[in-house]
Amino acid sequence: MAITRFAPSPTGYLHIGGLRTALYSYLWARKTNGEFKLRIEDTDTQRNNESAMKAILDAFDWVGLNYDSEVEYQSKRLEIYQKYIDQLLEEGKAYNCYMSKDELDALRQKQMDNKQTPRYDGTWRPEEGKVLPSIPEDVEPVIRIKSPDDGIITFIDGVKSIMNFDSSEVDDFVISRSNGMPTYNFVVAIDDALMNMTDIIRGDDHLTNTAKQIVIYESLGFNVPKFYHVPMINNPQGKKLSKRDGAMDVMDYKKLGYLPEALLNFLVRLGWSNGDQEIFTMNEMLELFNPENINKSASSYNEEKLLWLNSHYIKNVTNTRLSKELEFFGCHLKGHDKKEMLLDLCKERAQTLVELDEAIKKIVEVPNEYEKKGAKKFVKEQTPKILKYYLNTLEENVGKLNIASDYEVITKPFIEEFGLKFPQLFQPIRLALTGSTQAPSVYDLMAILGFDEVKCRINKALDVNFNK
Ligand code: GLU
Repeated sequence: MAITRFAPSPTGYLHIGGLRTALYSYLWARKTNGEFKLRIEDTDTQRNNESAMKAILDAFDWVGLNYDSEVEYQSKRLEIYQKYIDQLLEEGKAYNCYMSKDELDALRQKQMDNKQTPRYDGTWRPEEGKVLPSIPEDVEPVIRIKSPDDGIITFIDGVKSIMNFDSSEVDDFVISRSNGMPTYNFVVAIDDALMNMTDIIRGDDHLTNTAKQIVIYESLGFNVPKFYHVPMINNPQGKKLSKRDGAMDVMDYKKLGYLPEALLNFLVRLGWSNGDQEIFTMNEMLELFNPENINKSASSYNEEKLLWLNSHYIKNVTNTRLSKELEFFGCHLKGHDKKEMLLDLCKERAQTLVELDEAIKKIVEVPNEYEKKGAKKFVKEQTPKILKYYLNTLEENVGKLNIASDYEVITKPFIEEFGLKFPQLFQPIRLALTGSTQAPSVYDLMAILGFDEVKCRINKALDVNFNK
């Protein structure tokens, strides 16, 4: 039974890398009948922002990742953190450091000049027999934890296997700022321990933080959970994913017309695989996902694949669901008597809901103008006559015209009788019905619109001789 969490800092929107680790944590918890928690890491009061917090919750809601119990806010847990800071101070495992910002800057500069990695030099670290400097009056202290001064900090990562950090890489880092606010690495470790996390799945940009957090676990005698550090998502050129490549707010994917199941399916495969399977329903993800199989190398964002998955899901979800999703784009199909036919036709070609919406509007809305190039090519002297005869033929059979094949049965003999080629009839009809020659099958279009509307649109086009 795995207890996992997603722990975003509300300093910006939720991007797809974050959603991917949330999904992995969610799957692992649900698969093992464990718990999945959402914790908002909002102790950095200067960088937090309300709308980012809301965007995170909205994104979770949209993709349908449900979490157990209430959302935890670190800002409401400050007393708990203080208790552990006091305990560490009392036990001599942490100490006040009065080094001023100028002194710290000077130290860092000196180390860099000497080609050393900047690290705190232990000036205020109490040691037996060591005389500490006298406490300056004008400096509010920070609190630092005593990190081991020799040996290695080690843990087994579920993705990267054994990880070793020389203790020289982890200095006595700050656990509480001079304003009394505890720092990220401290509160994460406290919360993960107190919330009984068994498995921490997060981006591999946190690897060095993990070494620091292990120092805290060990100082407080907490059990160290299992860690899985997931490699980054890169752009197709192997560089860091930028906003232009797809590192957008998760909710932008909604605005671009992606279905949440397509996005989740895309994300589960970006960093994890099960043979060469590409399509995963949520149930299959739950059945097959295991963090031990997370890829060891970075993955590459592939927009075409996302579009391909999205068109798959657009074709495969129910029409009721599609019409509900389309409402977000201002497309209301509720009262449309041919709703099913319309969706069946348009969803075949749409890669996104935006494209689906456009395709539907192109049929439902009466055209106000006709594509010039198409009209020039396909509307000839005899076109009005052909169309009038054709409308008469349809009218004679109007009682038999319901579905696309009914129109086909009437149209084929008509074409033969008049010795026409299909485009001579069909392209002017497409133009009259939609304003464009790029529309889908004429039989489908006519079946959806119904004879009266077809007649009306054709007559309207004839009235202006397709010239508007
Ligand atoms: N709050 C951290 C962040 O947003 C994540 C912490 C974690 O997963 O440990 O990067």
